[in-house]
Amino acid sequence: GWDLTDPLTLAQLPHHQPFFTDSAILNAAHDVVIRNPADLNDVVGTVKSASTEDVQAAIARAVAAQAGWTNTPVTERAYCLNRLADLYEANAPQLFALLTREAGKTLADAVAELREAVDFCRYYAVQAMDYSHAPARGVVTCISPWNFPLAIFTGQIVAALVTGNTVLAKPAEQTPLIAQRAIELMHQAGVPHDAVQLLCGDGAVVGAAMTVDVRINGVVFTGSSVTAKLIQNNMAKHLAPDAMFIAETGGLNAMIVDSSALPEQVVRDVMASAFQSAGQRCSALRILYVQEDVAHDVIEMIAGAMDLLAVGNPWQLETDVGPVIDLDAQRELNEYLKNCDIIKTVPVPNAGYFVAPTMARVQGIEAMGKEMFGPILHVATFKAHELEQVVQTINNKGYGLTLGVHSRIESRVDAVCAQAHIGNIYVNRNQIGAIVGSQPFGGHGLSGTGPKAGGALYLSKFVRGTSNAAVMDVTK
Ligand code: NAD
Repeated sequence: GWDLTDPLTLAQLPHHQPFFTDSAILNAAHDVVIRNPADLNDVVGTVKSASTEDVQAAIARAVAAQAGWTNTPVTERAYCLNRLADLYEANAPQLFALLTREAGKTLADAVAELREAVDFCRYYAVQAMDYSHAPARGVVTCISPWNFPLAIFTGQIVAALVTGNTVLAKPAEQTPLIAQRAIELMHQAGVPHDAVQLLCGDGAVVGAAMTVDVRINGVVFTGSSVTAKLIQNNMAKHLAPDAMFIAETGGLNAMIVDSSALPEQVVRDVMASAFQSAGQRCSALRILYVQEDVAHDVIEMIAGAMDLLAVGNPWQLETDVGPVIDLDAQRELNEYLKNCDIIKTVPVPNAGYFVAPTMARVQGIEAMGKEMFGPILHVATFKAHELEQVVQTINNKGYGLTLGVHSRIESRVDAVCAQAHIGNIYVNRNQIGAIVGSQPFGGHGLSGTGPKAGGALYLSKFVRGTSNAAVMDVTK
């Protein structure tokens, strides 16, 4: 694995920008220009959007490639995944540069993301042996978000491939270049060209076309709850009734801190959960519920820690918080901040799509609207006897992705865990996502269908003969 404290890793990192200047991707005939969100003068590359005719042609090629790929022995398909993991590691410096320049990831985030992508490959390569006799579904569409443009993109695709499906992949509009490089490496790893094809472009056009063709046998989606619902409706109208659907969507994630919790630990975990990746993680902490008796001290300590946050160029090793993904995101977050009851905010660079990490007071989760995808931490207080009610309010909100609990009273932790309808609960630690193989990730209700990614059951949905009961509860 890649470890930023390891001198060998550091020695392999390119030392200055711009590092990734492959002229092949700076193509004037391409319609999409990708700029570095931290430095708009830095053109990372260009891509061409697919047309709906391109989508039709790609589906036909995937259908034609299906028999050949399904009949490839599972051991060989798994071998492709392991080779891909090797290639990701061998190309790590270039992938880090792309993650930083295209998605605004800090170097530490880029390293963690590459490791997750590699782990997905190696884990599903092993898990696939349990499904070696199960028939594949067929052609699977994989639609991914920009916030984990390598790990989620890869995880979806390799799960589908290793179980014998052919794949059409649609990366987010903001991050096609890293996707393009990942697909090249998949082909280099031995996956036939027509077994995994990339289609870049607008979600509402290209993405939609990939979910309304009866030749598609399943859709794997990670992104917002609104888009998930749209896709689910499209699929119900146009795809066969047994088509598979997996959705991993957003959350409004809380952390509950009682007066027995260790304040230093709380502050460290709050900082990571709320501000790492500029808050652009589906698992990120949005609302901290802190018991009234200790609220003043905890809030003061968080404010102090915020003074130490280094916001800036994500390529610098010392940077904690990079930019948000694009101008739309920056505008929406800054607009939202205008109506917040701000406790603490920190200065940010003027150029680039930066949003000030901010702590704001709020009455409770019921007073919050949709998920705001940025470095904004809301804080509410509760009295000791209100704990159960707090958990109930969180449940009632309908999202069920992550919950943090900080307490040294075991029976209280147990009670909260038993009462909360949340996919991923983090006790006395930070709440930032998944560990492939040991901590699979997925939510309930408005947050997704399951089964959890990176878990033993995930691959079961990609083969026939398993239940297709997952329906998103987005009616609330
Ligand atoms: P998004 O829903 O806007 O877009 C996700 C993908 O869907 C993109 O590739 C987009 O092009 C495509 N798309 C958009 N409209 C479409 C349509 N009508 N038909 C088909 N495809 C369409 O989400 P985003 O802004 O890219 O990502 C951020 C969201 O993702 C947040 O809500 C976050 O919580 C969520 N997320 C969830 C998880 C998880 O594991 N639960 C992980 C990461 C991100």
